[in-house]
Amino acid sequence: MIDFNYRGLTGDVITKEDFSYEEERKAWNRAIEKYPLVIIYCHINDDIINAITWAKLHSLEIRIRSGRHHYEGYSTGNDVVVIDISKMNGISVDEEIGTVKIQGGVRNRELYEVLGELGYPFPGGGCPTVGVSGLTLGGGWGYSNRLLGLASDNLLEIELIDYKGERIVATDESNEDLFWALRGAGGGNFGVVTSMTFKLPEKIKMATLIDIDYIGVDDNEILDIFETWAHLYKSLDKRVNLKMGIYNSKIKGRGVRITGILYGSKEEADIILRPFKNISEKGVFDFNYISVLDVNRRIQDSHPPYEKYKSAGRFVYKDYSRNEMAKIIKLIEERANGGVYAAVSLYGLGGAIGEKGKNDTAFYYRDAKFIMGFQSVWEEYEYALMNIEWVKEKLIYINSITTGSYINFPYAEIEDYEKEYYGENLEKLREIKLKYDPYEVFKFPQGIRILGK
Ligand SMILES: Cc1cc2nc3c(=O)[nH]c(=O)nc-3n(C[C@H](O)[C@H](O)[C@H](O)COP(=O)(O)OP(=O)(O)OC[C@H]3O[C@@H](n4cnc5c(N)ncnc54)[C@H](O)[C@@H]3O)c2cc1C
Repeated sequence: MIDFNYRGLTGDVITKEDFSYEEERKAWNRAIEKYPLVIIYCHINDDIINAITWAKLHSLEIRIRSGRHHYEGYSTGNDVVVIDISKMNGISVDEEIGTVKIQGGVRNRELYEVLGELGYPFPGGGCPTVGVSGLTLGGGWGYSNRLLGLASDNLLEIELIDYKGERIVATDESNEDLFWALRGAGGGNFGVVTSMTFKLPEKIKMATLIDIDYIGVDDNEILDIFETWAHLYKSLDKRVNLKMGIYNSKIKGRGVRITGILYGSKEEADIILRPFKNISEKGVFDFNYISVLDVNRRIQDSHPPYEKYKSAGRFVYKDYSRNEMAKIIKLIEERANGGVYAAVSLYGLGGAIGEKGKNDTAFYYRDAKFIMGFQSVWEEYEYALMNIEWVKEKLIYINSITTGSYINFPYAEIEDYEKEYYGENLEKLREIKLKYDPYEVFKFPQGIRILGK
């Protein structure tokens, strides 16, 4: 029977009786409606250990939460124990050894601020409030990846509390198998990651922020932009990475937005991106040569505080024909009923990401050209199901021209999700799961399963 006194738990314990529960249970994706039994804000490792012990004692499922950005809300759940580590957010930089150590609850903005002030770039994500550990455990895409590798490629050490409540340190030399797994398949699967140590990259003071917005373009213009994009990536300088969103917005209409970073001058950006200039007069080009910190700040500031959405992310290996591109564009010709925004987004890969092998870490789809995101956003609750169905229907075509799914852009309806997320790395991941979490204490709807269970 559940001990409703929650005796044994330490940290800030929030239950359904608490006034703040309603706020504390929310996910960034406001379409997620989950009601955990208890949320524990941990401050020290002992709070985590006590929470794991308590959950096991009462046979309750555990969810690990850091920045709350899981698309499908798997860092929470109904009647589960949420171990929230967002208050464990210390950052320490050692410039002499060339490392930065963060606690598990640090978010993108906090890390960019500390490193940026010291003149370092960081290969994190674009959204300010995404948890760095959540992002990195799934690989970690960002605008600096082509130059610096994935966020997870820069890891030197990870500390984790396992199902027994014991602290494990994983590096290339100790618990190497776990270290391998945590770089691409670590989110929620093996234990609570309490710290990560990254190597510091070379200092880079300035960079060019790239912002191109084609507003109100027609099908043919969008097609030309898409073709130009695909052509550009065939021989793109690794100092650049971009994201291209082909959108249909209730406010702005149809358009294409290209955002990115070049670790180089504005003049170089002009040359590299010149092919986009002649496509349409509707393109607004804004290139700013500013500090790396300001580049990251401006990218972050463009994100909304939260949304209601359904989204998926898949890997692109093919060179699309003009006909295939036209079909992709057509998917968002109309928005879903009640939808306020729909987009097909391409996130650039290549460069340093492809310099490691598919089996070097658990991040399998390294040699893909892009990640293709597909998304629908709505505002009123009553349209939720229609938008979810709409995305499902459109994904039938996208699935037929893409391979595998990006674990950081998860999609609840994937049938063979383990194979889709981890490709041929799945068998090894299952063995590692068996070794480090044999009783599946860390279990969630799309977790790695031990065979036979
Ligand atoms: C607006 C937005 C922008 C995004 N931008 C990017 C991007 O640019 N690049 C990119 O790669 N991804 C991006 N993502 C996806 C994001 O990286 C993943 O959703 C990531 O898992 C979120 O981590 P979190 O800590 O914020 O979320 P949470 O919901 O707290 O956690 C996400 C998952 O990771 C697990 N987890 C989190 N912290 C830990 C930990 N310390 N130990 C063990 N497991 C943990 C959780 O259990 C859960 O399964 C974006 C998502 C959103 C909503």
